Amino acid sequence: MGKLIVKNGRVLDPANRIDSVQTLEIENGVVLGFASKDATADSSAGILDASGCLVCPGFIDIHTHLREPGREDKETILSGTRAAAAGGFTTVCPIPNTNPVIDSQTGLKFILSRAETDACVNVFPYAAVTKGQAGEEMVEMGDLVYYGARGFTDDGRPIMNAEIMRRALEYSAMFNVPILDHCEDSHLAEGGVMHEGRVSNRLGLKGIPGIAESVQVARDVELAEFTGGHIHIMHVSKRESLEPIRRAKARGVKVTCEVTPHHLTLTDDALLDFNTAAKVNPPLGSEDDREALIEALLDGTIDCIATDHAPHTDIEKDLPITEAPFGMIGLETAFALLYTRLVIPGIIPLPLLIEKLTSAPARVIHLEPRGMLSAGAPADLTIVDLFEEFTVEESMFQSKSRNSPLIGVPLQGRVRATIVGGKVVHSRFPKGSVTLS
Ligand SMILES: [Zn+2]
Repeated sequence: MGKLIVKNGRVLDPANRIDSVQTLEIENGVVLGFASKDATADSSAGILDASGCLVCPGFIDIHTHLREPGREDKETILSGTRAAAAGGFTTVCPIPNTNPVIDSQTGLKFILSRAETDACVNVFPYAAVTKGQAGEEMVEMGDLVYYGARGFTDDGRPIMNAEIMRRALEYSAMFNVPILDHCEDSHLAEGGVMHEGRVSNRLGLKGIPGIAESVQVARDVELAEFTGGHIHIMHVSKRESLEPIRRAKARGVKVTCEVTPHHLTLTDDALLDFNTAAKVNPPLGSEDDREALIEALLDGTIDCIATDHAPHTDIEKDLPITEAPFGMIGLETAFALLYTRLVIPGIIPLPLLIEKLTSAPARVIHLEPRGMLSAGAPADLTIVDLFEEFTVEESMFQSKSRNSPLIGVPLQGRVRATIVGGKVVHSRFPKGSVTLS
């Protein structure tokens, strides 16, 4: 692989405290460093003119449902990683709740070999905590770490059995990988369709109370403290869940957590017209929950942003709201949604947003030096036009699924190019504007 020069972009690399117009040099898939003015005279190098654009480390999504194997009608490793690239994500971590569940060496090897042939971005998979995600028998964690599992999760389902969670966390301490939990007390949540509150009452739909999440969060942080293991709380969504995390962090407990773009920007009002595209789990909360999440993102209680990209077919999402599956796609709208709703109005600063999409998730699952543009780091980069306005349209999705409540919504800030290991894997620059040697 040759040399690539990304010239004159606004390089924003929060982990290295860089925010200035620079020319970046890439060779053999790694970042070389900043180039002097005459670097572009090197005729053997490919040159990408990023003038007027933001150049930042590639986004890292530590919570992605790619649906392969088993539901290739919803998404595949091929289509899901194309969607990732279109959204500026250079790394995704597929969730093992596929069919079959990824709970063995064979399953992990399948994901990794399919990624090798089909994926255009980095794929770092997790394995399930329990066999078949049945919540009863633990997987061979040591073995699976050896074969490439970056963490363990039964996501899609909670781990109700505290004894299993205790053992999993003990192993997590031994192997230095996180246990990622979908926190939901299944008895409290039973039969719920949306967040329990004003809107669910008005619609006459059964609600899931905020405490269904927070009691499980409180249990998990206690078990993490007791075992010394690393618990990662997935898609934290309610005000009640933040206090136990904040207090545990202050005590030095190994707890990290993520929030989704949709919980940061939407509320249960999105379901007022029974829109199944807004039916997600955990459900969209109240405006008060949303404000608490933003506050926790700003004060560091929330470590990172993850999409929980969850593709479903139109046939399933066209069912009545009580029967439609939970989940929305998110890879291709994440950045623009957050930029438009949170950065432009001045609610969160741009460097913080970029950090929460890059070095912060890398830190959670130990992917550094990914997530930063240090010399010698893999050349994973995202180039964004912060001024481009566009309306989300079904036809723009690379994902196989269309279950987004944002269709028809105008947004600002669009990914222009995505570079993985020095290779341009997605580009909306005019053809021929990247000259490759
Ligand atoms: Zn989940």
